[in-house]
Amino acid sequence: MSEFPISASSVPSPAPGPRAAHERPATPRTAGTALRRRLAELRGPDVPAQPLDARALAALAANPGCHRRALLDGAGVPKAELAHSLGAPSAFGQSQFAFMRGHAFEARVKADGGAELLRLTHARVGGGPEPVPGEASVPDLTAAGPQGRAGRTELALREATAAGAWTLLDHPMLALDVAGTPAFLEPDAVVVAPDGTWTVVEIKSFPMIDGSADAAKVGAAARQAAVYALALEDLAARLGDPAPRVRHHVLLVCPKDFSNLPTASPVDIRKQLSVTRRQLSRLARVEDIAAALPPGTTFDVTRSAAELTAAVDAVPATYAPECLAACELAFHCRARARAEGEVTALGRSLRGELGALATVDQALAAARGEAGDPDDPAVAALRRAGALRAEALAGRPG
Ligand code: SF4
Repeated sequence: MSEFPISASSVPSPAPGPRAAHERPATPRTAGTALRRRLAELRGPDVPAQPLDARALAALAANPGCHRRALLDGAGVPKAELAHSLGAPSAFGQSQFAFMRGHAFEARVKADGGAELLRLTHARVGGGPEPVPGEASVPDLTAAGPQGRAGRTELALREATAAGAWTLLDHPMLALDVAGTPAFLEPDAVVVAPDGTWTVVEIKSFPMIDGSADAAKVGAAARQAAVYALALEDLAARLGDPAPRVRHHVLLVCPKDFSNLPTASPVDIRKQLSVTRRQLSRLARVEDIAAALPPGTTFDVTRSAAELTAAVDAVPATYAPECLAACELAFHCRARARAEGEVTALGRSLRGELGALATVDQALAAARGEAGDPDDPAVAALRRAGALRAEALAGRPG
């Protein structure tokens, strides 16, 4: 097991074991044709649907209360283009340099038939006897189209599990049913161990220094890996009884310290798995969010900025500064949140501490003693702070 345990969850870890059928995640409710038609109308007749990927699904899990994102992602609206049409283009995305560096590191980790990656997997999560370099299987997963690749992946996982040998699936393709539409997901790798367990591998180019890495980056990687694990669990449930076990610790592989050498640590993703599961079931309720929209609402990116602004503002959002790193609409939503004086624009923790006081004006009125329930601890604390400030200013030399 790991010399460098990293936890992206505070949930204690139970002993691993095969999952019973009743414990398996429910497949999200399949949306009907009427919903798909309605979502296509919202997207616009000539706008191709933006496919959902693991990053989008992970971002949904990071902001589970945002109806705006849930609806736009559910309808396949291209959010980067929408942000552009709204006049608030996103600066969201990975630089070309970071992309190339990540690509080179991943190639190094998987070199020589994945010998080093399998050694790290065995060392950190176990799974059977030590892999012998050159003897592991690396099946060819190439096929036409995402459906074809997903089919090849399913076959390779079935054969590898039956073979009981170390197998590396390099960029497999997984399908996950999301609101009645398959989302195709491509993890960096999945390792099948001789004991039949499946482990998701995430390869990142941020460093792991003295066994620990940036907590925010580990959290983002864990949310993304949870989406892959969810898709694998659906696939495992289809493969038979007992279903192969998908490990709830993913293997995070990063450069060691300041070198280019790979190191790895298991990351507990159970909390992210349950949040993602819940989010996907809520995503199936985009029908309810869409039904509450005024007639004629459209997110067609070819429409005018004024029309799109009205449409986007008709869907409730829960902006937080974290959106800046996760959602293409962040600049638009931040501007609206600031214009409304919403305290969430200042951070989720402050929003939590202020309780029922949702705007900056309400908080200032409470601090001045002009509004708010004095029995509310947040109001009482603001009044005390306001009185102390007034006292300090009164005693200031003029
Ligand atoms: S940027 Fe806006 S739409 Fe995106 S998650 Fe945040 S609040 Fe929701």
